[in-house]
Amino acid sequence: MIKQGVSLKTYNSFGVVAKADLFAVAKSTEDLQLILGDRRFHSAWILGGGSNTLFCNAPKQPIIHVNIAGIQIIEEDTEDVVILVGSGVNWHELVLWSLEQGFRGIENLSLIPGNVGAAPIQNIGAYGVELQDVFEKCSFVHRNNQTIETFDKAACKFGYRDSIFKNELKNKVVITNVSLRLKKKNYNLNTSYGAIEQELLSNNITVPSPKDVSDAVIKIRSNKLPDPKQLGNAGSFFKNPIVSNTQFQKLKTSFADIPHYIQPNGNYKIPAAWLIEQVGLKGVRKGEVGIHKHHALVLLNYGNASGQDIRDFSLSVQEKVQNHFNILLQPEVNFCC
Ligand SMILES: Cc1cc2nc3c(=O)[nH]c(=O)nc-3n(C[C@H](O)[C@H](O)[C@H](O)COP(=O)(O)OP(=O)(O)OC[C@H]3O[C@@H](n4cnc5c(N)ncnc54)[C@H](O)[C@@H]3O)c2cc1C
Repeated sequence: MIKQGVSLKTYNSFGVVAKADLFAVAKSTEDLQLILGDRRFHSAWILGGGSNTLFCNAPKQPIIHVNIAGIQIIEEDTEDVVILVGSGVNWHELVLWSLEQGFRGIENLSLIPGNVGAAPIQNIGAYGVELQDVFEKCSFVHRNNQTIETFDKAACKFGYRDSIFKNELKNKVVITNVSLRLKKKNYNLNTSYGAIEQELLSNNITVPSPKDVSDAVIKIRSNKLPDPKQLGNAGSFFKNPIVSNTQFQKLKTSFADIPHYIQPNGNYKIPAAWLIEQVGLKGVRKGEVGIHKHHALVLLNYGNASGQDIRDFSLSVQEKVQNHFNILLQPEVNFCC
């Protein structure tokens, strides 16, 4: 269960070289409690699929890889089903499983890399759907005393790429399972976002099934996003910044065409990709690190970048955007340094 000197290269979608002095795998909640109770793992880094993690060379902390399996139906009636899923289940495999069962709710979240346990951390989202739309509850182990607790949706305080696990409970708990409420019938599919509708129509699909929507999302994503197996990346590196109305009005006087999305509370979300493109960084490459030529939010490892190279490059992107727009981009990616 506990190994020494483990290479992390295949455990991170950036594909950077890093080594963990101590590496433990938790295959059950009991395993996890035992490992967390071991003094050597008190400050350990929790690792799922490593698709939202940047290892800066040699991480100082030991690593706990959460690999709890299992998908179980725990509630069912004529309309809904509630499933309990182990943290180590691959997210996309869960989506495919749910479609095979005829369940609806997570088809728009097809092909998001990573594991189920990390999904609540940043409330994963894509194509107009977020985890919170289907989330029922999750259980976790407290790192300090290994007790187990379960939170419902309200307690998780989900927001845009945000939750209590990135704030009050950051580094304090490890999620062991997640329950989702999916629909068996009487559902509405969300096809209005991005190019889904267009993709469906190009296949002459006017009354799509959840599987059709998933196929459309898979096709769009595969054409758009670089496959981490071929070109190391972690999807969007930065979050879209949200600015106050006052700051937005100021920005608008200098940048009349700034794209924006008004938020329910009157703040404005600005696409980080636009900001990065405006400062001339889209498609720029510096040594082994760069920004994708079609996606200004995707930082790339061309093969031999170190975690530190990627980190330094991301700091230079932040600095350029801040100098030009007075907006500090916040990384979506988690730094294990
Ligand atoms: C090509 C590509 C496309 C992507 N597209 C999207 C997208 O469309 N939408 C989106 O939201 N994300 C996207 N992502 C980001 C990523 O897929 C998600 O953030 C995913 O949930 C990360 O899962 P993971 O298991 O790989 O997390 P990891 O990278 O292993 O961990 C991420 C964070 O969660 C913590 N963590 C992991 N597991 C647990 C646990 N069980 N308990 C407590 N903490 C834990 C880690 O310590 C770390 O801080 C994309 C990434 C890539 C590479």
